[in-house]
Amino acid sequence: MTDRASPPVIHLHQGDLPAGLSFPNGVAVDSETQGLNLARDRLCLVQLSAGDGICHLVQVAQGQTGAPNLKALCEDPSVVKIFHYARFDIAALKRWLGIDCAPVYCTKIASRLARTYTDGHGLKDVVRELAGVDLDKQQQSSDWARTDLSPAQQGYAANDVLYLHEVRDRLDEMIRREGRQAMLQSCFDFLPHRVALDLAGWGEVDIFHH
Ligand code: MN
Repeated sequence: MTDRASPPVIHLHQGDLPAGLSFPNGVAVDSETQGLNLARDRLCLVQLSAGDGICHLVQVAQGQTGAPNLKALCEDPSVVKIFHYARFDIAALKRWLGIDCAPVYCTKIASRLARTYTDGHGLKDVVRELAGVDLDKQQQSSDWARTDLSPAQQGYAANDVLYLHEVRDRLDEMIRREGRQAMLQSCFDFLPHRVALDLAGWGEVDIFHH
């Protein structure tokens, strides 16, 4: 359980994670880009947390094409990468840093399969109900490419990963209760293919649609 009385500890890194960080219970990952167009809008920031109230922020520079330590972690088969709306972050990491994230867990997909009593599957809704925390989304649309990220931006960015472990654990309980583990895993297995379709130009098309 995260200690909410104390503010998160934020470590800001330039270009890559330091080597030697450990994420024994999976790593929560989020990213911020200049916009939602994967062809145009570059990756600016990657946020990571072990679920311990500590957040690592990695700033990605204009023109940067790789981040070896981040890549090693995201491709480590023994560490689950936990996202909310993994589809976008996986595509951004692939498009801008050549990273293939695996294995992955998406709390948005898990929420859609577990919380069928609501349409509220945004991060704010899910974190409010399952972690009891009210996230401030005011910095959502801000200039993430600026090199001197404001304290408000850093705090907002950190918040997007601090509660994902807790949310995952709560969703897993619900998924097990409803017997939907295999369905959930199948969706996660399909994610890299969905991302490949996005990056190849089928982003707006549901190829399963009539
Ligand atoms: Mn975010």
